[in-house]
Amino acid sequence: MSALLEVRKLSYIYHSPDAETQAISEVSFGIEREEFVAIVGPSGCGKTTILSLIAGILEPSSGEILLDGKPVKEAAGLTAFMPQRDQLFEWRNILRNVLLGPEIRRQKTPENVKFARSLLKKYGLSDFEKKRPSELSGGMRQRAALIRTLVTSPELLLLDEPFSALDFQTRLTVCDDVYRIIREEKKTVVFVTHDIAEAISMADRVIVLTERPARIKNIYTIDLDKSLSPLRRRELGFADYFKRIWSDLEVKNVGRT
Ligand code: ADP
Ligand code: MG
Repeated sequence: MSALLEVRKLSYIYHSPDAETQAISEVSFGIEREEFVAIVGPSGCGKTTILSLIAGILEPSSGEILLDGKPVKEAAGLTAFMPQRDQLFEWRNILRNVLLGPEIRRQKTPENVKFARSLLKKYGLSDFEKKRPSELSGGMRQRAALIRTLVTSPELLLLDEPFSALDFQTRLTVCDDVYRIIREEKKTVVFVTHDIAEAISMADRVIVLTERPARIKNIYTIDLDKSLSPLRRRELGFADYFKRIWSDLEVKNVGRT
């Protein structure tokens, strides 16, 4: 079976009137269907740029990205992007927030309203359909934001540091929540984080990037219990992955945002 996502010799340069910034340099990797891949790297190395390129928001300076064997432009409907903050709109209730994508594309149909409501029900948010985002806890908001990305039935989810605004305790719960939903819905995921423990506790593979311009420093296959996510932290072997990735990143780069 061919990979769902193929990134080949991807490079990207930002141009501004007085400077050129090379953000990505010859990055190549593939992702299989239903695989969960985390990308970690120092702050400012080019992680969000890679996601924007996969989402088709930016075009590669060189190299190519294939989704299901096709150029990104022809396969745009296959991906959904979940940005760094949940970006729920306070003037919309939760159901209308979740339906934002279809509404913008003028594709709101009774079917996708039904689908959105079934997801909210399945993941414990039925009673909150009519509430405003500020009436929900941080964890619930994150769940709603995830459901919003699922409503368009994408195959590939692109998550950009989705938990960075949450406190540690909430983060663990939400991380477990999101992990279970993604597995249950059988999605393929590219998950960007600068949190090494989070990457190891969720991913099948972890891609470690260098400082800007991002190149691939190492790729680790995480051989830990897939039925666990935050609790993987207690598994034998977790600390070993952590140490290896930590030393790839060098201590000075970790924890900066
Ligand atoms: P990360 O997500 O890993 O923190 P980004 O992908 O956001 O990093 O950015 C990578 C590099 O590209 C950074 O050094 C940043 O300053 C630069 N950069 C990002 N966006 C722009 C832009 N619009 N114009 C110029 N440079 C940019
Ligand atoms: Mg970023």
